Amino acid sequence: MSAPIRTCVGCGATAPRGALVRVRVGDGARVMVDTTWSGGRGAWLHPAGACLERAVRRRAFARAFRRADLACDGDELRARLTSSGGRD
Ligand SMILES: [Zn+2]
Repeated sequence: MSAPIRTCVGCGATAPRGALVRVRVGDGARVMVDTTWSGGRGAWLHPAGACLERAVRRRAFARAFRRADLACDGDELRARLTSSGGRD
């Protein structure tokens, strides 16, 4: 059985779901790493600073979540993203 394929909103490459980190919109319209699989709309990102930066710069989160009011703390996201890398 092959793993589900998802698209990284940073670099636009596809990868098995386990190689990407799921992000979602949390309280206060904050983009956050979804460690609890809370359901709802999610976006996927490589656990890499470069992909996060691209996503922020290209406003990929606004597009992925279809809303323009998102708050995005790049530093916090980066810390969470890289520390949760490799988890499935
Ligand atoms: Zn990527």
